[in-house]
Amino acid sequence: MIEDKNQARTPLSELGEFGLIDHLTKNFKITHESTIKGIGDDAAVCDFGNQQVVITTDLLVENVHFDLSYMPLKHLGYKSVMVNLSDVYAMNAMASQITVSIAVSNRFPLEALEELYAGIETAAKIYGVDVVGGDTTSSTKGLLISVTAFGTANKEDIAYRNGAKPNDLLVVTGDLGGAYMGLQVLEREKKVFEVNPNNQPDLDAYTYIIERQLKPEARKDIIKLLKDLEVKPTAMIDISDGLSSEIIHLCKQSKVGAELYENKIPLDPQVIATCEEFEIDSTTIALNGGEDYELLMTISQEDFPKIKANPNLSVIGYITEESRGMHLITRAEEAIPIIAKGWNALDN
Ligand code: ADP
Ligand code: MG
Repeated sequence: MIEDKNQARTPLSELGEFGLIDHLTKNFKITHESTIKGIGDDAAVCDFGNQQVVITTDLLVENVHFDLSYMPLKHLGYKSVMVNLSDVYAMNAMASQITVSIAVSNRFPLEALEELYAGIETAAKIYGVDVVGGDTTSSTKGLLISVTAFGTANKEDIAYRNGAKPNDLLVVTGDLGGAYMGLQVLEREKKVFEVNPNNQPDLDAYTYIIERQLKPEARKDIIKLLKDLEVKPTAMIDISDGLSSEIIHLCKQSKVGAELYENKIPLDPQVIATCEEFEIDSTTIALNGGEDYELLMTISQEDFPKIKANPNLSVIGYITEESRGMHLITRAEEAIPIIAKGWNALDN
């Protein structure tokens, strides 16, 4: 579906490993005082002063985590940075550096890696992180990308998964289920394309959800917002696998239970419409669809007045004693136990 606009196909062997690294990394600039040494030595050097450092890493594997037949390489570069920054923000920390490692087969020409790195560069620029290193190697088949992100926070600001207390409010940012429904649309179009390559898909009705899948944004804005509102979440986690799985992580680690209200789960109209079209229940998608990269947090009741008018934050339930378990309260006021499916469970 996505045409390869690059006509040139320069084999990677023309540059050699070091030439390739130089070529891919030449645009990265250092912007943080904490970056003492970036790309070019045996290791990067950072000085975080008296701040605590948070470190997180993710590995993305072709045809497991992404499909290049509908994922443009530039978006893939951008998204691989986002999934890591999201984990840093989920600690209520600010991201400052990343490293990027790739393994590529000779199926990929230089122009493909340039696209990938254009996405990485855009993400680094927009989110204000320095690219300080990485590794470049070959693979026999396919593409692997591993990003590691570093961030900092004051000790007292870090939000762990284990801090939720009974009566805290369960709060989510943005809206849920979009990335999963975007993937459903892209996979459907891919199948149509395989049967009839001349078919030009009309995706106008799905622009928001496709963007949620191809170009997710990590919620750096929320970390700043929480600071401005003077709210410190008692616990926080990012939503990469679906709301139910994240609620379970948070509750188990905090040794609490939770009640989640179906009618409070924020859904975009495009998600609702697309769920109707695919005849899937939108609550199931919000609970089990992954990759939204929103933040799920708990905040103490006394902070409610500070967040209640904010359109970015929805109160979707509250924390209970552990013995009460975790339940979804449906629109029909039935209590259904929350179970983890994760987004893979939805793939048949
Ligand atoms: P080494 O042999 O010590 O692993 P390399 O030659 O792989 O060193 O890397 C040289 C420099 O380039 C290092 O600073 C490394 O972190 C950086 N680097 C290597 N590959 C990448 C990449 N794909 N993206 C960003 N930086 C990279
Ligand atoms: Mg190396």
